[in-house]
Amino acid sequence: MNKIKQLLNNFVSIFYPRSCVACGNALMQNESHFCLSCLMHLPETNYHLMENSPLDYIFMGRVPVEKVASMLFYKKGNKVQHILHALKYKGDKEVGCFLGEMYGRQLLKSPYYQSVDCIVPIPLHPKKLRMRGYNQSEWIAMGLTRSMNIPYFTDVLLRSEFTETQTKKSRFSRWENVKSVFVTADTEKITGKHVLICDDVLTTGATMEAAITQLEKIERVRVSVATLACAH
Ligand SMILES: [Zn+2]
Repeated sequence: MNKIKQLLNNFVSIFYPRSCVACGNALMQNESHFCLSCLMHLPETNYHLMENSPLDYIFMGRVPVEKVASMLFYKKGNKVQHILHALKYKGDKEVGCFLGEMYGRQLLKSPYYQSVDCIVPIPLHPKKLRMRGYNQSEWIAMGLTRSMNIPYFTDVLLRSEFTETQTKKSRFSRWENVKSVFVTADTEKITGKHVLICDDVLTTGATMEAAITQLEKIERVRVSVATLACAH
């Protein structure tokens, strides 16, 4: 039976070859999302293991955060950019879940993330959600949940208004743009909890700062951050 299944899979992949998200090469039967070579050479930051990583200074003087980490280095034109592009614009939400699960396994080995109680993904505005069909951060949260064995909540942090695309704005105008976009609901779910906020990429931290500002208003909440990629 397995032989037949394998033959069928091979047959399907002749006509619909699956390709590596990072390099575009055809995947072997036993590979998923990434070819072995890309999987072995992902540019990992290991920031989650460092006492003082560059990311720990991002929110200094802005908002209180326990720990900030990103899994991969993002650079213009590198493989991580291809991964993020597939995740956000090519409908490949499963790669977010795959990497989230992988990162969750790593975070469990970090002393800074062992006390995390639950995960909150950065929400997309409903209008953008309708356009994209899914929230990529939620798929990352799903993956983290699988390996960290803690729940994720999508109904605690909500987006309140539509913001323009942020890529071409300066840090100040980005902050002006995002500072009032988040609201909280059902806050008793995370009262007194250590919350892990997740997102796809961390650049200036303006969106994350706005989200943390709202979550910090909830009683005895502690916040840590984990993103798939960062530009630092
Ligand atoms: Zn590859």
